[in-house]
Amino acid sequence: MAHINENYLKLPGSYLFSEIARRVNEFKSQSPDADIIRLGIGDVTKPLAPAVVEAMKKAVDEMGNAGTFRGYGPEQGYDFLIEKIISNDYAPRGIELGMDEVFVSDGAKSDTANFQEIFGMDNIMAVTDPVYPVYVDSNVMAGRTGMYDTEKGQYGKIVYLPCIEEKDMKPALPTTHVDMIYLCFPNNPTGMTLTKEELKVWVDYARENKAIILFDSAYEAFIREEDVPRSIYEVEGARQVAVEFRSFSKTAGFTGTRCAYTVVPKDILVYDSQGQGHSLNKLWLRRQTTKFNGVSYPVQAAAAAVYSEEGKKQIRATIDYYMENARIIREGLKEAGFKVFGGVNAPYIWMKTPRNMGSWEFFDKLMTEAHVVGTPGAGFGANGEGYFRLTAFGTRENTEKAIERIKTRMK
Ligand code: PLP
Repeated sequence: MAHINENYLKLPGSYLFSEIARRVNEFKSQSPDADIIRLGIGDVTKPLAPAVVEAMKKAVDEMGNAGTFRGYGPEQGYDFLIEKIISNDYAPRGIELGMDEVFVSDGAKSDTANFQEIFGMDNIMAVTDPVYPVYVDSNVMAGRTGMYDTEKGQYGKIVYLPCIEEKDMKPALPTTHVDMIYLCFPNNPTGMTLTKEELKVWVDYARENKAIILFDSAYEAFIREEDVPRSIYEVEGARQVAVEFRSFSKTAGFTGTRCAYTVVPKDILVYDSQGQGHSLNKLWLRRQTTKFNGVSYPVQAAAAAVYSEEGKKQIRATIDYYMENARIIREGLKEAGFKVFGGVNAPYIWMKTPRNMGSWEFFDKLMTEAHVVGTPGAGFGANGEGYFRLTAFGTRENTEKAIERIKTRMK
């Protein structure tokens, strides 16, 4: 008899998006004429930049030609892409990285989910609450989290770092020891960022406690304010303790194309039970070369075009478009009297529900009265209750319409 990994049974099921779909379908069947606007989905809507498409087509042609065909590429990614990543995303900010410290992959979702494999089962992990659910669920599957407490909506062995209004949605250091810390800034779902000084507190903690920071900066491209750090490596000492995940998904519309990268500096040591240090970079390389065969050549060629002069301009224009939506949502909600977070350096706007309304209650009200669909904060963790996420990835027209409806119908 084949036995299962029973850790999978600890997962309460992907309740959030299926429940949203269920409620939307039910409403649609009752009100078929309602013109529903979706501002809940974290997926981009604008097409790939022309420079990217052109590079991908050219690469596909090369693959169809005996003289230029390529088979398996390097598991870590082609040098032509890694070189562009380092020289564009890091070098201008004074961050030096070696070519073998960048690992190209098919997504930040898989990398943030897979990275925990390197760590022992007895490591204590910390996540912010609310949180991007992948960090939690991947550790549940591995067996590192203990049981799920339905009442609390939390796992017994995870240290949760509440991001609450009184603290401007920023996490405070844990009061008990932790070994693995997942941080995501600009944050999904709150849209908030940390300053360099605030990030340094985490780097210092990790250095003092021999902990590792798993830093997800999938939304780095949306940072607008000059003084907000774009990489954790802008903080002194981060090279010894932090792994950084980045993605072309939101930066360049690659959600359906799939390309990302993870930086694992060679300075990071992780320890065996004898206290002997091992290179985290080497372990991740070993893991990737065993389980991953690289990203397709046309996709990496397309990603490299993100850094061409044309590509940069086109991508910038798309991000500007989304960030104007973010401004419209943020300012519109404020005018309507809502308390809002995020939306300045991120495509997410985190709003407080009025009159202490539950997240799902507000979801229903917004859908039935304004015909606008968002994401209930409770789906991102216990501290998300009483909050609601709207995204800037819609069209301008729909975004403006949705905010107008909220202003007039959600009094
Ligand atoms: N990290 C965060 C915080 C995200 O919100 C998302 C997608 O929504 C991802 C990672 C996934 O990125 P990718 O498309 O590269 O897998």
